Amino acid sequence: MSELYPNETELDERDGRYLRKAIGWSHAARRRGNRPFGAVVVSAAGEVLAEAYCNSAETGDVTGHAETNAVRALAERKLSREELAGATIYSSGEPCVMCAGAIFWSNIGRVVFGIDAERLRLFRGEHADQRDAELSCRDVFRASPHAIECIGPALVDEATAAHVGAWKG
Ligand SMILES: [Zn+2]
Repeated sequence: MSELYPNETELDERDGRYLRKAIGWSHAARRRGNRPFGAVVVSAAGEVLAEAYCNSAETGDVTGHAETNAVRALAERKLSREELAGATIYSSGEPCVMCAGAIFWSNIGRVVFGIDAERLRLFRGEHADQRDAELSCRDVFRASPHAIECIGPALVDEATAAHVGAWKG
């Protein structure tokens, strides 16, 4: 196992497996010309409930982030709020403020993410169409009336790889 970054969380086998699945989708997103982000939602029992990638470039829909697409895909499963509270969303990158809001509304109770927003900004640079709103997902989750556990950054090196060369320099 490689050395952890100072703010990196070490994951157990299960969390590592699903976060790697989300990172896999980030590469799939990039191959299709999108920003490299992926997300996977997993039930408390370990069933994969939804898998998605960012498809904003393909669709022209700016809300087509990996996490919002995953949350939308959950709709057809007709899960109870309790089932969702026990679920975890794995995201290759720290959720943006929109996705944090979508996670809040979904009632998903736990978030595990890869590369953090701060490191992502090194790739985003100063381009107007690449900059994000600088409000942490943890600040959104803290404002939630129900508890949303948030773990990350994790698997930083692996989660970062998809971003190298994927943004305007
Ligand atoms: Zn987002």
